[in-house]
Amino acid sequence: MQESVLIYYNGHKNILEFMKNPFQSHLPKINLHTHQIVNGGQIQVLNVFAQDLPLNEKKQLFSTGLHPWHIGKVNPEACFQAIELAAKQKNMLAIGECGLDRSISTEFLLQVSHFKKQIEIAEKYQKPLIIHCVRAYSDLMQLKKETKSNVPWLIHGYNGNLETTKNLVRHGFYFSAGEKLLSNESKHAVFLAIPTDRLFLETDDREISIESVYFLAIQVLKIDLNKLAKMIFNNFKILFGDDRLALNNYLT
Ligand SMILES: [Zn+2]
Repeated sequence: MQESVLIYYNGHKNILEFMKNPFQSHLPKINLHTHQIVNGGQIQVLNVFAQDLPLNEKKQLFSTGLHPWHIGKVNPEACFQAIELAAKQKNMLAIGECGLDRSISTEFLLQVSHFKKQIEIAEKYQKPLIIHCVRAYSDLMQLKKETKSNVPWLIHGYNGNLETTKNLVRHGFYFSAGEKLLSNESKHAVFLAIPTDRLFLETDDREISIESVYFLAIQVLKIDLNKLAKMIFNNFKILFGDDRLALNNYLT
């Protein structure tokens, strides 16, 4: 057995059960943020850019927002209108990705105003925010305080440092982690600092399966796959509600 398989096996009581299906769990895996739908027994939240709305597929779970990278390239008012319309669809889970990015040349204050508009929409429709944040974590915490927003704020593709993570945890943020964080050993302390009831996993736009992301996560957390699947599944139910799962026949 490979070392990684052994670590996983250690969490398992029954070797026969384990050998039958080493990496299966009875709960579907959840990919909280993806740009591409793949087939298989999993729940996938598709990211749809606001300028690509509407999404006519009635069962596909999705989130939608005006990405900071697209500011200046699309008509913001048309995007906000389309997002509001989409927010009325049952299969629309969250507003985003939207947020702040200090690594691009787009004027920061303009990014803030576009983000604020989407925070308002999230509040109006009581949807969580899925946030893209690059080198702007303190601005993000400031905004969360300032707007007194009461919807969950979830940072996707999370890759902050340990100090920032502790701060964000104190401010009540949720996190979605992917390969970037999990495959970097020096970042494992960051991953472990995220409270397990505020954690999600994702592939984003990477060429990796959600199964592989779950596999990386169980090695860092040193828990078995069933436990991880249950944890993420519960977090999802709490954040988005049972009816979202019913849409895809995951709950009957
Ligand atoms: Zn993305």
